[in-house]
Amino acid sequence: MEKQEAKSLGRRLVLVVFPFQGHINPMLQLATILNSKGFSITIVHPQFNSPNHAKHPEFSFVSLPDGLSKSNISPTDLVALISALKTNCEAPFQQYLEEMLKVDDPHDRVACVVYDGFMHFAQVVANNLKLPGINVRTSAVATLLFFAVFPRAHDQGYISFKECLAQAPAPELQSLDFNDVLGPAEIPTPLLELRATVTHATKKASAVIVNTMHFLEQQTMSKVHEYFPSPIFCIGPFHKLAPPSASSTSLLKEDTSCISWLDKQAPNSVIYISFGSMVSMDEKELVEIAWGLANSEQPFLWVVRPGLVHGSEWIELLPESFKERVEGRGCIVKWAPQKEVLAHGAVGGFWSHCGWNSTMESVCEGVPMLCRPYFGDQGLGARYVCRVWKVGLELEGVLERGKIERAIRTLMVDSEGVEIRERAKDLKEKADLCLSEDGSSYNALNELAQHILSF
Ligand code: UDP
Repeated sequence: MEKQEAKSLGRRLVLVVFPFQGHINPMLQLATILNSKGFSITIVHPQFNSPNHAKHPEFSFVSLPDGLSKSNISPTDLVALISALKTNCEAPFQQYLEEMLKVDDPHDRVACVVYDGFMHFAQVVANNLKLPGINVRTSAVATLLFFAVFPRAHDQGYISFKECLAQAPAPELQSLDFNDVLGPAEIPTPLLELRATVTHATKKASAVIVNTMHFLEQQTMSKVHEYFPSPIFCIGPFHKLAPPSASSTSLLKEDTSCISWLDKQAPNSVIYISFGSMVSMDEKELVEIAWGLANSEQPFLWVVRPGLVHGSEWIELLPESFKERVEGRGCIVKWAPQKEVLAHGAVGGFWSHCGWNSTMESVCEGVPMLCRPYFGDQGLGARYVCRVWKVGLELEGVLERGKIERAIRTLMVDSEGVEIRERAKDLKEKADLCLSEDGSSYNALNELAQHILSF
């Protein structure tokens, strides 16, 4: 579909963002993709972690009062967070949309509400105003099942875990080991309720958009279709379909000096370490990682986010003897231009927490991974990487310097690592195909645009 075609039809999409880095990035990338297809875009976001409006003059922005800025809710307390956003944002969002709909401009008509799955109240508002809602998963297709399926067999409104998997024990689903990823058999009731609410909204949506590639989750996708009637468009990874000119959506300032440092390193020699925007760890773990890196004798680029260890400023907890030992061989930054880092020829491995964005970014650049998931969907990402696609190794159990040193050497220099690297390169080639003309993501995007125009 040509850009002009959609523009002349005057369709505006209202995108609702969940205010954390791993959700802001894909949602703004999606906005850029849809804008490049000719749709006008309004970004609705809570005040907390506001994206920088000035960086995106092509979008309109609306900021909703959220009550989060002053609260003590931890970013990892998903239930409290999502519930606070619903309580504080639902009414102002409905009010805003009502006002918008009153201005009946045929050249700028609201076509639908496209919302992050965690902002599920947006579907309720869309239903109230008789607008179509499109649910966006910024993570794997498997998270649709992850939220819908749970281990207890007989509770109302949920899909039984046993029933879901016993009927079709596809190898991919078996490798994901939902039983384990889903956590304890006795899931707290508020979390179960949240899963049910998010799943309910997804089922009410006119369509679902997922930041994944079909071939990566083929068997899971077949299973998901059994439970979710709406059309599902796998148009990921968004960061690759977004026009290359798209501005950075980082909330933290990227330290680009690490790129000049990478320029001086040998090809495939550097291990890049980053645990994303939300993981925190204790001092002991940080120090074990430091010595593991030092003892591996490999060059490394390490993102130590301020506050990675709760209460710390930055790297003051790292011993001076470590800093002296790795001088010149290691580069530590507060925040990196990660996509550029992963695309750099010097980077030969990525030690990651397996957030879905990081996982997709690594897959697209053919970089093999060391996986250390902490919470949420990170365990799912790690299982895909290590057990399904087999392009990484998992670092399990207590983190200790000897284990880290061995794992890094296995990935970066041993024969096992060479095989993993080859598979990672193969996966990148498949991803390139998927994104190119007539590839599955490319085609799904065109189908999505047509679907929106049919509303
Ligand atoms: N990121 C970045 N620089 C860094 C670390 C991370 O730009 O130093 C970006 C990364 O490219 C990804 C996002 O932050 O797009 C993190 O999302 P992810 O889903 O991997 O993890 P989360 O932060 O949600 O745990």
